[in-house]
Amino acid sequence: MFGVYAPGQAAAHLTYAGLYALQHRGQESAGMAVSDGDHIFVVKDMGLVTNVFDERQLAPLHGHHLAIGHTRYSTTGSSTWSNAQPVYRSVGEVSFALGHNGNLTNTPALAAEAGTLPGTLGSDSDLVAELLQQAIGRTGSRSDGRELEMALLKVLPRLEGAFSFVLMDESHLVGIRDPNGFRPLCLGKLDAGWVLASETPALDIVGAHFVREIEPGELMVIDAGGCRSLHPFEPGRVEPRLCLFEFVYFARPDSQLYGQNVHAARQRMGELLADQAPLPADTLSPARPAMVVPVPESGIPAAQGYSHRSGIPYGDGLVKNRYIGRTFIAPSQQERSQGVRMKLNPLRESIAGKRLVVVDDSIVRGTTQRTLVRMLREAGAAEVHLRISLPPVRWPCFYGMDFGTRGELLAANMSVGEIREYLGCDSLAYLELDRLVEATGSPAAGFCTACLTGRYPVAVPPELSKAILEQSVPAPAGPVAEEPGVLDLAP
Ligand code: SF4
Repeated sequence: MFGVYAPGQAAAHLTYAGLYALQHRGQESAGMAVSDGDHIFVVKDMGLVTNVFDERQLAPLHGHHLAIGHTRYSTTGSSTWSNAQPVYRSVGEVSFALGHNGNLTNTPALAAEAGTLPGTLGSDSDLVAELLQQAIGRTGSRSDGRELEMALLKVLPRLEGAFSFVLMDESHLVGIRDPNGFRPLCLGKLDAGWVLASETPALDIVGAHFVREIEPGELMVIDAGGCRSLHPFEPGRVEPRLCLFEFVYFARPDSQLYGQNVHAARQRMGELLADQAPLPADTLSPARPAMVVPVPESGIPAAQGYSHRSGIPYGDGLVKNRYIGRTFIAPSQQERSQGVRMKLNPLRESIAGKRLVVVDDSIVRGTTQRTLVRMLREAGAAEVHLRISLPPVRWPCFYGMDFGTRGELLAANMSVGEIREYLGCDSLAYLELDRLVEATGSPAAGFCTACLTGRYPVAVPPELSKAILEQSVPAPAGPVAEEPGVLDLAP
């Protein structure tokens, strides 16, 4: 997500550049809303930023100074045009647009509260826009033009789960992080204006300098008067729980999270993996050459760290097709396996006869790694030892990562020994959680680890599904974890 308030500058073009830097956070659809001070215009469509926007859309928006933008990765609501963001609403004199990163966990209760008919809203983001629209409708116009801000103060405390938002009306830009700060959002300063962005590289690309992260539980309003910080949540709800997976995989390596560079943190993960799970000493003899191989691209820094700490040479053993997206989604196991072959190809000359330490960021369903191990063996690797930066993923994520159900998670259903056998590698080691948290460089800052530990910081109803709002008959009420904590989702 991206937002810019920059009088005298081309906000639409800055937003395009910002979204381009944030493409990795969502590849299903892209959109932006821009204001000329009197009206909001929205352009959005399915596809990548470069598919959706060209000079034809951007040129007419040249005089606009305020904009928000979004790239979508769906976790509630299907991947369709109508669910593309920003979501736009208009009530009386007030119009606003909203972009959301995260996933609400009390969607059914909110939908009931809003009185919407089943099937009429497409996503949890749409539902928040509906609640805001209703709140503005009840309050009516204000002489100070702060209708959106007042509606947010009423609606935000009712939301639960993961939500970073950027919003705008005709003259205000707003940024919000939920009380746990599951998803990142930062503030940047232009010479004459302000920027909000999910990650710091989007600030770099538009020439803004980093000011600070929006705090968990903070509502920031930016307008002609500057920035105002508000705190709409009860202080007891505010407890930082940044998603640990952002550090391991999701965020760009050149991002700063909790004041730490993500690339350096990933290198430390590799170093600590080398301490925790070295290769047996005999593999270091010249007669038995070993090599540390990254799974490109997110495995690269951890592989560098492993090599540096272990003294085992680092080498490229896999070539990634740069035209394949970050997530290759195919409906069947066979197609997924084929997808891995399309994405990665071994460098035979480099790996033949060697003992390989293959470093990857995570194993979720195991499709990539199983195919990869087979490919490396077929290409002549003598041994394949897998080292993984993220501990076993045993629990689903309800806060904005689409990991699937427990049944699809390899580690929810197998021991590490069984996984090693299933993947067909010679050894397998996952970085221990304590070491991973240490590697972030911010061990005391507060992380969500729910997918690894089952300890959910915000209670989740087990019946929550991606299509919860789209089904015409509401999902049957299931057992709800009344309190945050370990949730029994055993199949
Ligand atoms: S459950 Fe896992 S992926 Fe989801 S927010 Fe928590 S750490 Fe991140």
